[in-house]
Order: sequence, then C-alpha cells, then structure tokens
Amino acid sequence: MIRTRIAPSPTGKLHIGTARTALFNYLYAKNQGGTYVLRIEDTDKNRSTKESEHDILAGLEWLGIGADEGVTTEGELGDLGPYRQSDRTGTYRQYLEVLIESGDAYWCPTSGEELDRLKKEADASKQPFIYRPEHRDGRYEYQEGSVLRFKVPDEVIWFEDKIKGKIEFDTSLMGDFVIAKGWDNPLYNFVVVIDDELMQITHIIRGEDHISNTPKQILINRALGFKRKNFGHMPLILAPDKSKMSKRHGATSVEDYRALGYLPEAMVNFLALLGWNEGNDREDYTLEELVQKFSLKRVQKSGAVFNKEKLDSINAKYIRALPIAEKVRIGSEFLTHNGFDLDKLSQSQLEQIISIECDRIKTFGEIGDDVKFFFETPEYDGEILVWKNMTAEEAKASLEWVKEQVYNIDEDSYTEIESRLKEIINESDWGMGQVLWPLRVALSGQERSPSPFEIMQVLGKDETLARIDQAIQKLS
Ligand code: GLU
Repeated sequence: MIRTRIAPSPTGKLHIGTARTALFNYLYAKNQGGTYVLRIEDTDKNRSTKESEHDILAGLEWLGIGADEGVTTEGELGDLGPYRQSDRTGTYRQYLEVLIESGDAYWCPTSGEELDRLKKEADASKQPFIYRPEHRDGRYEYQEGSVLRFKVPDEVIWFEDKIKGKIEFDTSLMGDFVIAKGWDNPLYNFVVVIDDELMQITHIIRGEDHISNTPKQILINRALGFKRKNFGHMPLILAPDKSKMSKRHGATSVEDYRALGYLPEAMVNFLALLGWNEGNDREDYTLEELVQKFSLKRVQKSGAVFNKEKLDSINAKYIRALPIAEKVRIGSEFLTHNGFDLDKLSQSQLEQIISIECDRIKTFGEIGDDVKFFFETPEYDGEILVWKNMTAEEAKASLEWVKEQVYNIDEDSYTEIESRLKEIINESDWGMGQVLWPLRVALSGQERSPSPFEIMQVLGKDETLARIDQAIQKLS
C-alpha cells in the first residue's frame, strides 16, 4: 500500500512550491490507490504559528487536495497520529534513547565558541570543516548546552531517486550532524525519519532542495532498523529569468493567487504542469483526470519555469467555462470586496454585468474599476466622445441621431436592441463606427469597454437615454 505525505512547516503562507509538492504527492498516492497524509512540521517553535498552519490547511483544501489522513481544518483524521510534530515530543525522546544506546548518537559537550574556533581554523587552512570529535566514541550524559550528534560512518550511500535517477553521497565528507539540541528539542532530520516510519510512509516526494538531507535521513533510518523509503525529488520552480522563484517575481502564496481571483481548478492545472506533462499541450484536466494520468516517470528532472501568462490564460478559460451561477457567486464576492454596492442592481443586471465581464477578464480581481460605470454615471472628458476623423459637431450629431433611434424602439423590443439598432444604422448614412464609438463612450465613459449593445441591455432604456443626453451636453 503506497503512502505519501506532505509535511509543511507552518512558518508562513502556503507557498506555491509547497502546494505543487502536495499536489504531486496527492496525485501519486491516488494514482496508486494509496493514501496521502498531511503532517504539520512545527518543531521550530519560534517560527511556527497557528495562523500559518490554518492558512496552509485552508489553501490545500481550497485546491481540493486536503488530507486523506492527518491534519485538516476540521481536526485530525487517522489512527497513526498525532500528526503534528509538537504533539509527538515523547515519541521522539524514546528514539533518541535508542540511538544513544546503540552508539549511533552521542551527547557532544563542545561549546559553540569552540566550534566556531575550529571552523575558522579549517577555513584558514582551506580544509572542509568535517566535525568528528574524538569523544564521538565515548559516552557522556546530557549536560546543559550539549547537543546530540549522529555518528556518521564512512561509506558511499546511494538511492534510486524516482525522478532524478541514481544519487550517491560519500559520507566521509559529512561531519557528525546534530539531531537534537537537548532531550526535548529534536531536529528536523531526525523527527522526519521517526514520523515517516511511524506514519508508514512509503514514498517521500519533495523539493530538490531536500536532496542534501536525504543521506542523513537514510543513515538515521537504517540505524533505527526502519524500512527503506522511496524518494523522489522534484525540480525547483524557477522565475522566467531562471533564478529561484521569490517574492520579487510577484505573488508566491496560494492565498495571494486566490485573492487575485484565480480559480482552484486553474491553479491545479498550472501547478501540475509545472514539472509534469502527459506529452501534449493539454491544460484543462480535472483533478480526477490528473490522478489517472499522473506518473513520476513523466516528472521533469530540471527546473520548471513559472509562466504567469500561461497561468492567466488557463484561468481565463476556466472563468469562461464556469456556469453562470458560479460566475455570479464569485464575481459578487469580488465586487463587494472591491467596494461595490450590489443592492444598486437588480439580480438580472448583476448577472448580465458579471457574464459580460467574465468574457473579458483573466482573473476575478480585474472586476473592479472596469465596471464602475454600471453602478454610477461615469465622469469623463467629453473629448473622448469624438472618434478618429470625426469633428465634435459630427459626434454630437451622431449622438442626437442615435438618441432618437433608441427613443423610438419600444420597451418590448428593447431586448433585441443590438439587431434592431444595427439594422437601423445599416439603412442610414452613418458608418457603424461613427455611431458606435460616441455611443459606447457616452454609456461607459471609457475608451475601452464592452460593446454599447451589452451596456444598453444592462442599463435599460431610460438610463441609456439619460447618458446619451449627458454626452450631448458635454459636446454643446
Ligand atoms: N517540513 C519540510 C518543509 O516544509 C518538508 C520536509 C520533507 O518533506 O521532508 O520544507
């Protein structure tokens, strides 16, 4: 039975890198009919917060990849918990004792100052600093300030990485690393091994920044007589300039993307395609389809470049494909958030505005200034009413003419305003642009906006006439 895990440290928002790692673990586990576990790695007491734990859990659940087992926003699921490292201190202590007993770990009393001195000495003589003190073979009791070190044997360790292939380490280049700073303060490389064993994890899929931890974890795992684990290290997410993705390249947390108006379905496709593909250009998978198609063999070995345009285009497609009720639900949330009073509109106006906008936007966050004119009479400079080679007089004449045409279309046929008006313009001496440009600006106050017909539908006949009047005034 395959078991994977995502093991976030709650020291900040849910980073897109962590979300992608979670997704790959989810997809692999599900593809294999296995279980996907979520463990909270909060051993770093100073940096871990409940707030970021909640943000991480909520973000993963929003993406649809909350835990099968482990920590969720609703509490813990499963029999192999607790799944929060801060609740497992007693367990860790037990295994520290095992390692001391077997001679694989020893309390090291060397002070920090002494270590610094030795490091400087090594630097000065251009030697790598590999700390393996003579007292590694002795036995010391814990005393205030001592750290527990793992006694590293000399050998070549290797593992077959499921993504990168064979990876080897010469452990003679490694010093005796610290696995605990006191009985109640075990460190990452140690606790991870205990947790992965006790939570029966079979596959450890994580970012390639963890490769250097792997030999340490393999050594501890073996010293404790635990089962061998499979590893797969995923390529880093790179910015377009091929540097490591960071805040200066824009939003990096799932919450940021959510707040900008990206949809979870789009995020899931985008994240899945950051380092994996099926061998074609498809970018509209459901989560279930990804589960079926996913394989570690098709995860690329080297860096995956973050392409914001691609994310935007995927998101735009998902927005267009939403059922109208969903468009209205999410669109209303964003409009309200952006300060619009939805009570000023009827339900049908709201639906029309949002559905017009959803054909234009890439993210819901863009629904804002662009739709302001639906809610209130627009302020604008009369000059923009005048199209290309027209004069102000011609623009005014065109508006007066179209006002009369609109006035003559009775309320009952107003819903067919587009076809009616086009027909009338075609039969007249006016060119389409000569009429539609000033009309559109009169209605929206903008040089770029939805078509005048769409706006007229939403505003209704009276408001349409009032706005044309206002425009005529501006040109008088
Ligand atoms: N807690 C680690 C992190 O957030 C992950 C550890 C692991 O996957 O082994 O980077």
